[in-house]
Amino acid sequence: MAKQIQAIRGMNDCLPEDTAKWQQVERALRQVVAAYGYSEIRTPIVENTDLFKRSIGEVTDIVEKEMYTFDDRNSESLTLRPEGTASCVRAGNQHGLLYNQEQRLWYMGPMFRYERPQKGRYRQFHQFGCEVFGLNGPDIDAELIMLTARLWNVFGIRDKVKLQLNSLGSNEARANYRAKLVEYLQLHQDKLDEDSKRRMLSNPLRVLDSKDPAVQQILQDAPTLLEYLDDESREHLDGLCLLLDGAGIEYEINHRLVRGLDYYNRTVFEWVTTSLGAQGTVCAGGRYDGLVEQLGGRATPAVGFAMGIERLILLLDTLGQLHHSDSQADLYILGSGEYTDVVANALAEKIRDGLPKLRVMNHRGGGNFKKQFKRADKSGAQIALIVGEDEITNDQVTLKYLRTGAEQVTISQDQLLEHLSEYFV
Ligand code: ATP
Ligand code: MG
Repeated sequence: MAKQIQAIRGMNDCLPEDTAKWQQVERALRQVVAAYGYSEIRTPIVENTDLFKRSIGEVTDIVEKEMYTFDDRNSESLTLRPEGTASCVRAGNQHGLLYNQEQRLWYMGPMFRYERPQKGRYRQFHQFGCEVFGLNGPDIDAELIMLTARLWNVFGIRDKVKLQLNSLGSNEARANYRAKLVEYLQLHQDKLDEDSKRRMLSNPLRVLDSKDPAVQQILQDAPTLLEYLDDESREHLDGLCLLLDGAGIEYEINHRLVRGLDYYNRTVFEWVTTSLGAQGTVCAGGRYDGLVEQLGGRATPAVGFAMGIERLILLLDTLGQLHHSDSQADLYILGSGEYTDVVANALAEKIRDGLPKLRVMNHRGGGNFKKQFKRADKSGAQIALIVGEDEITNDQVTLKYLRTGAEQVTISQDQLLEHLSEYFV
């Protein structure tokens, strides 16, 4: 036998038994963003490498070691998108959607990061996200957080996720803080891991994001950003807290929350769960008022979030919140005898014309009644519609109720649509 080719490590197939779950989740996501008046944007999966370097930042996990970067045939450096925000800003600038306008956008699709695959962490994964442009107040930050809170409600996991909040302040506040942080870290250099030592010099705030327990220990007593916050950013944060209080949304202020990307300022937030082990961040976002200008547009305030769909589905599955049926059909049409296949074929199309929402499956591949009923059962259909020679002679069909034990009935073909539409209300 020829050697089988396997999928790329960390890139998963979504098999039919799983797609039902994905569709359930995607439907809910679409419904909630629609309820807030957001519009979908779709951008290419591949972009110029510079786009991500300039937005996410050179000294970040993503750009340093996680990007899928390759040369196109014309030697241009391209990258499979590791996240969605940079592409949204690029598209917004390119098509003049941002300056002096308000945009409430959402997207959903695959992202790519070369990470060590493990539960909740993959090389191709999917994000759902929202990006809002042209609004600079805390009210829109609150709206995005409320939107995500609504999602948790819809999914029945509101009490399983916790909101963490922080403010990164203005550029100036961050610069002041950075100096103090470096002073502190230098005192404890010997206990820092290699990554943190390097970052202490190149991008010290990133040290706060370290997952090394020893580093986290040292950070316990580090100066916090909140002490250096500028007045405007403090007011912004207070305003946001007031709105969240009013909406009944609980939060915890986490001074060390900085997020893994460079473009954030002021508000940053994460929704975390303790039900998924190490990969606890389900949704993360914040304000990035400088990014549009940084990518060549005119200064435009912006805020957004992204959530990992795999992690969300894992969480929902773990908590038993995904209720889906694996039935493929409502009605299964079978028959035996001369000319019955022709009649069954035509009848199925007539039913699909009249009842477009009904899922109708024709038996294919022949075989005796026993085999056909087995297939009907496996399809999950409620009703088997039987076309036999007697039925054809009398312009009738027989309906057998597969799940209820109700008596089977033979009715005229003229009554069929009405009968089915009453049954499947
Ligand atoms: P982490 O700290 O877990 O690496 P991150 O800070 O890199 O997350 P973001 O870039 O903020 O994550 O992406 C937003 C969300 O996308 C994350 O909260 C997570 O749910 C999801 N996500 C990120 N990377 C992966 C991945 N490799 N596989 C699956 N989901 C991911
Ligand atoms: Mg990461």
